Amino acid sequence: MRLAIIDYDRCQPKKCSLECMKYCPGVRMGEKTIEIDENTGKPVISEVLCSGCGICVKRCPFKAISIIGLPEELSEDKIVHSYGQNRFKLFGLVIPRDGVVGIIGQNGIGKSTVLRILAGELIPNLGKHDKEPNYDDVIKYFRGTELQEYFEKLKNKGIKAIHKVQYVDILPKVVKGKVGELLKKVDEKGKFDEVVEKLELKNILDRELSQLSGGELQRVAIAAAYLRKGDIYFFDEPSSWLDIRQRFNAARLIRELNKVVVVEHDLIVLDYLSDYIHIMYGVPSAYGIVSMPKSVRVGINEYLYGELREENIRFRKEPIIFEKRAIIDFKNRPILLSYSSMKKTLGDFKLEVSGGTIYKGEVIGILGPNGIGKTTFVKLLAGVIKPDEGEVTKEEDIKVSYKPQYIAPDYDGTVEDLLSSITNINTSYYKSEIINPLQLEKLLDREVKELSGGELQRVAIAACLSRDADIYLLDEPSAFLDVEQRLVVSKVIRRIADEKEAGMFVVDHDILFQDYISDRFIVFSGEPGRFGIGSSPMNKRDGANKFLKEMQITFRRDPDTGRPRANKEGSQRDIMQKEKGEYYYV
Ligand code: ADP
Ligand code: SF4
Ligand code: SF4
Repeated sequence: MRLAIIDYDRCQPKKCSLECMKYCPGVRMGEKTIEIDENTGKPVISEVLCSGCGICVKRCPFKAISIIGLPEELSEDKIVHSYGQNRFKLFGLVIPRDGVVGIIGQNGIGKSTVLRILAGELIPNLGKHDKEPNYDDVIKYFRGTELQEYFEKLKNKGIKAIHKVQYVDILPKVVKGKVGELLKKVDEKGKFDEVVEKLELKNILDRELSQLSGGELQRVAIAAAYLRKGDIYFFDEPSSWLDIRQRFNAARLIRELNKVVVVEHDLIVLDYLSDYIHIMYGVPSAYGIVSMPKSVRVGINEYLYGELREENIRFRKEPIIFEKRAIIDFKNRPILLSYSSMKKTLGDFKLEVSGGTIYKGEVIGILGPNGIGKTTFVKLLAGVIKPDEGEVTKEEDIKVSYKPQYIAPDYDGTVEDLLSSITNINTSYYKSEIINPLQLEKLLDREVKELSGGELQRVAIAACLSRDADIYLLDEPSAFLDVEQRLVVSKVIRRIADEKEAGMFVVDHDILFQDYISDRFIVFSGEPGRFGIGSSPMNKRDGANKFLKEMQITFRRDPDTGRPRANKEGSQRDIMQKEKGEYYYV
């Protein structure tokens, strides 16, 4: 079976000369391989007539077409949902069960589609477009499987599904009011006070939803879902915008619920949260396949290996390997800068940092909550602001390039315009180091203002790393990226640190990402918005230990993949490691 996918957002028949039709050998032979849809005025490709030659893919000036061969085991009768001819198709479905079922997969692979189907928001059409989808057909389709009963209940409205959506930032547009009042209104369990405490919402109860930051909105959305009485709960990316402690607080709360399906890209959080895993694979925006359910350890490991052992399927050529980074002795390398202990007061906020030395080519991971003074610290190093006490010693003027946490898409122009205004993007070096790994090729002609969160993030990282600087500060580069993109970004950052001998400061709440990318850690603690205390740069083991002790979370290493895993709270390992004071893996 072959899929012809058209990205109708890119396709612009008024601006091209219909090259797809003009050059299609089928059309030239007089067949209806490609026709123009009367309603939309856009082309439709017949997957039956298409020979898969790929000429239209190359000829389309807007890169709107993909022709994709499907794995042999897939056939039309295995489609659970199709968004239309030449559009995304979903094969298979997640099986909800008691406990937490986690879904792992790239962006655009159909995870949200799965959640919408199981939440009863979308009736799957089984790939048929000739009539309105209905539950009777779906029940027939899943007869004899665990999903039959589930859809029977959905049909009879016997399932109350609670869905925490992915894009919490749109909530203020649909719901108005104060946090406390809104949460009280949905509190069907009488657990308002408990949730306010566990998700640390006390200080924002009197605020309007429209005044909340992303992380605050996320916690309110999670609280609202938790407080309602449901038969099943869906959480789409609960950790976006949250710092590490908030991620684990949310995870603990979600685990209290009976039946949950969760989509999550922070593998440590997903691991901690889930009892089972479904892997989703395929080609983003074209088709997605749902694997059989797996135990958490096996599921995450197989995802990283790119291979489903039981099904005997390899879905990615290269495994994702989080290699244990060799410990480099930077003391023999040139110094970028040194600083004494410093103090700085900005309005009501006080920052205190212990002194340290940063070497060229070193990546320093910064761990700590948001609003704790990390950016202020880097500004002190760069000389953008002066400390009240203490000093920075450096040879010359040091240039800093900064990617903020909140990236505003306020640039007028295309991605190409933006990047070209910073550097020459037409060199083979730039293509191989930035454009290709960050998958920017298809974004170059897009308006910056129209990018999605994950696309904007990759462009912002590219823009930051393209500037000529001695210090790079990347605030939350992993936000909105999927697991595979996170790995790619970490490799790009490492390579640029090595090549430019720059100092990299990376603030990120994904510990797997931090563990992979950093040479040393600086740990910030304190009270967000009031005071922050920064440690000296510490070796990774000591830094992680200090940080995890504050979080009261212990880690071990997976014996097969080497990835860090959070111990379940109260498990034997957790208790033993806490007694020994070994919070990082032993
Ligand atoms: P994920 O949650 O894994 O990122 P989604 O389920 O959101 O993936 O989307 C999978 C694919 O389906 C994407 O290519 C998306 O563009 C497409 N898609 C999602 N919703 C619709 C829709 N209503 N109409 C057409 N295509 C859609
Ligand atoms: Fe033009 Fe490409 Fe659309 Fe065909 S697919 S109509 S070539 S933009
Ligand atoms: Fe026509 Fe070839 Fe494109 Fe198929 S792949 S629609 S046969 S040009």
